[in-house]
Amino acid sequence: MLSYHCLKETRPTHPRELNFKSRYHESMKMDYRLALIPPEGGSYALIFRCNHPRRVQIGKLGTVVTEPGYYVYCGTAFGSGGLRARIGRHLTLRRNKHWHIDYLRPFLKLERIWYSRAPHNLEHRWSDRLLDIAFVSGAAVLPLARFGASDCRCPTHLVRLPFRPDLQSLRFTEEGEPGVVEISWNT
Ligand SMILES: [Zn+2]
Repeated sequence: MLSYHCLKETRPTHPRELNFKSRYHESMKMDYRLALIPPEGGSYALIFRCNHPRRVQIGKLGTVVTEPGYYVYCGTAFGSGGLRARIGRHLTLRRNKHWHIDYLRPFLKLERIWYSRAPHNLEHRWSDRLLDIAFVSGAAVLPLARFGASDCRCPTHLVRLPFRPDLQSLRFTEEGEPGVVEISWNT
């Protein structure tokens, strides 16, 4: 009888799996940088770059057809481990998909992280502001309705922009709120 290890070693590896493994190890190497992100609760936006068009099935929600440009995903993390745990979760590519962004993540390159330690939920306001900017730009699109927004009334929490968004011009911070911190990631 073949042992588990023999089976594992003799089983041919699908090229797609090889690709997943190398990407997974890449993501693990980034972990030391998570120390830059506080373990307290707060809101965050992840700024991704996309270089290739691709069709990606997002669970039962629908399909995103990616286009070259920038994608911004907004969320909040007030649970155990706060921002650090949640953002770390988004950085690690996993087979089991929990959030909509998990499906898209392998095809996007993370460039920047914005976060706020404000004790209230900012993801809806930020998504709304980004969507306004996307529509004004004309060329931008809402990639898929209700993406990341199953539990709220926002049209989406994922916005595509044809240019790299600039934190200063977004006016994410309102009077009395803590400032939004930007971390360059460039993975
Ligand atoms: Zn929302």
